[in-house]
Amino acid sequence: MEYRALRGVEDLIPPESLKYERVVDTFKEVVERAGFSEVILPIFEEARLFTRSVGESSDIVNKEMYVFEDKGGRVVALRPEGTASAVRAYVEHGVYAKEPFTKWFYVGPMFRFERPQAGRKRQFFQAGAEVFGFSQPGADAELIKVADTVLKELSVEAVLEVNSIGCRECRPAYREALINFLMSKLNFLCPDCVRRFEKNPLRVLDCKNESCQKVVSQAPKITDYLCSECREHYEKVKEYLNLFKVEFKENPFLVRGLDYYTRTVFEFKSSQLGAQSTVLAGGRYDYLVEEIGGPQVPALGFAMGIDRVMLLIPELEVERRGVFVVTRGEEAYRRGLEVVNFLRSKGIRAEIDHRQGSFKAQMKAADRLKVKFAVIIGQDEVEGEFYSLKELSTGKQERVESLKELLARL
Ligand code: ATP
Ligand code: MG
Repeated sequence: MEYRALRGVEDLIPPESLKYERVVDTFKEVVERAGFSEVILPIFEEARLFTRSVGESSDIVNKEMYVFEDKGGRVVALRPEGTASAVRAYVEHGVYAKEPFTKWFYVGPMFRFERPQAGRKRQFFQAGAEVFGFSQPGADAELIKVADTVLKELSVEAVLEVNSIGCRECRPAYREALINFLMSKLNFLCPDCVRRFEKNPLRVLDCKNESCQKVVSQAPKITDYLCSECREHYEKVKEYLNLFKVEFKENPFLVRGLDYYTRTVFEFKSSQLGAQSTVLAGGRYDYLVEEIGGPQVPALGFAMGIDRVMLLIPELEVERRGVFVVTRGEEAYRRGLEVVNFLRSKGIRAEIDHRQGSFKAQMKAADRLKVKFAVIIGQDEVEGEFYSLKELSTGKQERVESLKELLARL
């Protein structure tokens, strides 16, 4: 084959695209009900926006970002995630001065140079939600409830894990303790972790390597180091999750791969996705708005991996729908075109086979296309000025006298 899509970049051809649409529609319905509005953000940004927000020592910035110089000499990156742009837009447009609090959602492609495998692509899709302006734990629980509802409405079974990773006040002490602990275990860590443990020791907790996981299971727990405010916040989040009847598991070693998180972090994991188990992840990022140049505005959000969710939901039963107009002969064809136009103007999906093959071939096409009804116009119909309407699933055929009657029957 001469041309192929790039590695890790997939086409979504119908009916796969319908599945994508169903996931997005369900997501939108749930978040809109919870008061979120859509924000449409650029696909590329100045690379330094991500370096600043996602973090210099993160895998995303270190090895996964698509960065290039544009013709004007600017260093640009295809967005690897959505939060950085949302925060940049929130600050740039001074939204904090106009709204008491802000709830945005976004849907779209993200780009990361990763090793492609099931559930891990170089162009993938995320649906995300961001909340600006609440420091209170009720907002954390409410957001997690929204995420939980999206997955439930899609019938995705996933286990929710939560943790608190503290704040500027309490994390440094934990970091110290973790470095001290890891120092004596360096022999058991993978080369990546050995390299990053001093710069970003919390990332070691997130390593998927078996030997690292073993070390981590004995590491000090951040929850033992939280300051009283963080501890209280975390307790309240859990309390409200119970109130919302959201089931969760505490995982004291849960951290996220992005540097901007504070306090609450969470992930929904499925057991059916192998190593790519996380379908939705998020948390609080109370310092990010400030770091991007805005005022101190607490915020939180999550992103759902649409591709991974699509792997977890069953193939869609394509429902029969619409009308296929079957004609034979010029006069019948002309009437067929009128029928198609008429039905479309009334909001009904209608199509016609311009090739004018045999009735049998056209009926076969109608069946293939999972059409609900065929309107047949042949010589008899032209001469008698009527239409024959056939329901494909039952094979039942009836005579219809006018377009108005046709519309009533559909
Ligand atoms: P992972 O640990 O699986 O690499 P991550 O921590 O890098 O995930 P986030 O940046 O938190 O992921 O992105 C949120 C969600 O987006 C993930 O939980 C996942 O469902 C999805 N996602 C992330 N990277 C990819 C990818 N390369 N291909 C498909 N989905 C992805
Ligand atoms: Mg990743």
